[in-house]
Amino acid sequence: MAIATVNPTSGKTEMIIEPHTRDEVLDRIGQAAAAAATLRTTTFAQRAEWMRRAADFLDDQASGLAELITVEMGKPIAQSLAEVRKSARAMRFYADKAELFLADAPLHDPSAVNASRAWTRYEPLGVILAVMPWNYPLWQVIRFAAPALMAGNAGVLKHASNVPQCAMALDSLFDNAGFPAGSLRTLLIGGADVAEVIADPRIAAVTLTGSEPAGRSVASIAGQHIKKAVLELGGSDPFIVLRSADVAAAAETAVRARVGNNGQSCIAGKRFIVHTDVYDEFAQEFTRLMAELTVGDPLDPTTDVGPLATEAGREDLVELVEDARAKGATILTGGHAPDRPGWFYAPTVIADLPDDARLIQEEAFGPVASLYRARDDDDALRLANQTGFGLSSAVWTTDADQERRFVAELDAGAVFINGMTVSYQELPFGGIKRSGYGRELAAVGQREFCNLKTVWKA
Ligand code: NAP
Repeated sequence: MAIATVNPTSGKTEMIIEPHTRDEVLDRIGQAAAAAATLRTTTFAQRAEWMRRAADFLDDQASGLAELITVEMGKPIAQSLAEVRKSARAMRFYADKAELFLADAPLHDPSAVNASRAWTRYEPLGVILAVMPWNYPLWQVIRFAAPALMAGNAGVLKHASNVPQCAMALDSLFDNAGFPAGSLRTLLIGGADVAEVIADPRIAAVTLTGSEPAGRSVASIAGQHIKKAVLELGGSDPFIVLRSADVAAAAETAVRARVGNNGQSCIAGKRFIVHTDVYDEFAQEFTRLMAELTVGDPLDPTTDVGPLATEAGREDLVELVEDARAKGATILTGGHAPDRPGWFYAPTVIADLPDDARLIQEEAFGPVASLYRARDDDDALRLANQTGFGLSSAVWTTDADQERRFVAELDAGAVFINGMTVSYQELPFGGIKRSGYGRELAAVGQREFCNLKTVWKA
């Protein structure tokens, strides 16, 4: 895949960027390693000052960066701006909290292990490789980089090949804020070159956010080199509406959960599972709202849904919908690509899926919702848990017993009650099953790339 900006709204190639040569890659890893050696000697206060300055840079450049995101991957401009602001907030969060999250923790009864004192401390690991996707070109990187750098690690970034300008903006961000030069270095390389980077002895660990095949490959190479990996992979999250729910509110939120980021979010509600008693009411309202969305130029602030990021991504979505249609599913709205340039797809709702429809098991990465009628609560849980994914989930209910049961029995890394899944820096984020392993964000995410050192003193 060429490293290039192809504007998904027009389909036109705006910029092609030469990949880094092997020597350049080795040099850039060296810069990050030198930065890591310096960073681990700096104080939290010093790193926090640099991190806050970097956050200020993001805020100062917010409108330009937002436009760049929209041009490279097609997100509606208001959402791009929100992504920049959210990234700056996460940077300030870790500037404020890192020292607390990584504080030494005393063992409460050292005499039990024959010590006068015993405690644990967190130390940085060194240079962490981040392999990142295009769907949140800034946020995905910052939610790795802010905690990693505040812990005293450095990073090298292999960003998705279709967002090279965002990748290069990130390359200079931390240097300009005062961090040791090279604290986050972008490597302009393809997926096939990642194996050699993981193998480099200067790389301590790897984090990947992306698809299952990429995760499988990166994790197995990391395993060969006994290097830690965190994997944030795909999802096909259930959005469950039970009999006691506020159906109108659920339908309104369901639309946002499905079409935010043009439907290309790992934590989007993708499968809408509705109790039979409220199914017709929900289906009617949800379909009406999906059909009313404005599809168009993502730089136009009145647009709700822009194009998909790539032509290949749209092709995958078309195949999933056509598979369902051919097998007899009902298309309630959408189900086609509008006749215009760019990689657009109409907001779509599909019901009556037969058991062998690919949409039941596979992730729809675009504005396509599948609807399921649940006979009862047992059936809703069965439908929710029937995929190989386990990222997040949402359940709508006003019944306390139902709430307890679904929180306990949903196979997912998170459950959102009477809302939609969102990622906040305060909340641990990550999945189970084929959605990956490890966590990002909050304290637990920051500790993933630290050495938890036990200290024992006679
Ligand atoms: P992708 O193809 O896996 O790309 C993600 C990153 O991995 C890109 O930088 C890509 O580089 C690289 N890559 C691809 N194949 C690789 C390989 N064999 N070895 C090493 N690196 C490789 O993912 P995508 O289709 O662009 O992104 C969408 C997927 O990401 C969806 O499944 C979505 O659910 C998931 N996602 C998950 C989360 C989460 O937090 N769980 C968040 C966002 C997205 P190139 O661009 O050069 O191919």
